[in-house]
Amino acid sequence: MMLEQLKNEVCRANLLLKEYGLITLTWGNVSGISEDRRYVVIKPSGVSYAEMTADMMVVTDLDGKVVEGNLRPSSDLATHLELYRNYPEIKAVVHTHSRWATGTAQAEQGIPCFGTTHADHFYGTVPCTRHLTEQEIKNDYELNTGKVIVETLNELKIDPMAVPAILVCKHGPFAWGKTPEKAVENALVLEECAYMSYIAKTLTDGNVAPAPQALQDKHYFRKHGAGAYYGQK
Ligand SMILES: [Zn+2]
Repeated sequence: MMLEQLKNEVCRANLLLKEYGLITLTWGNVSGISEDRRYVVIKPSGVSYAEMTADMMVVTDLDGKVVEGNLRPSSDLATHLELYRNYPEIKAVVHTHSRWATGTAQAEQGIPCFGTTHADHFYGTVPCTRHLTEQEIKNDYELNTGKVIVETLNELKIDPMAVPAILVCKHGPFAWGKTPEKAVENALVLEECAYMSYIAKTLTDGNVAPAPQALQDKHYFRKHGAGAYYGQK
């Protein structure tokens, strides 16, 4: 059996989605990529979290061909693969329909940095993509979802590790990270930030300002980059 450790990590990260209350039924998936970036391990499609075990995880290559596993991979596999192909720094991807982030995506809005909770994890606005065109929906929908994510990050010149999440318009959030667990953590923080931003917007009739840049910089860079000093060594 190949990639046992990664299968364990991916399975555990999928179970964390349930534990963190980020998913309803089976609406979510986590994947991870091997160190040599030749194989992706992803949740099988439509399997209940109660029954899920590491040996059910599906191994595919970067073209989506199944190389190990008896079950079909998550239907969102092509979106995950497009992110892996474009960003060598991304080692795990997660997709959920978590309530607050998905509601924001349905409103076609990004999540600006309104405070330090956001700034601790995301450097600037978590953007919302454009709509997919009818053609993009009809053919290669999941691949095109990945392409619109890449297009949005490129257009906005966003470093995917500085803003490790995005909202896909009328759909929901994708997040990523250096490990499956870290990607799920980013999805969880995104959900909290979506919730908090809704409260801030509601209490101000939509007139809330982003956090001052100095405050955003302080919070982001004390946890990330060369000058980071938050937490333990
Ligand atoms: Zn979805």
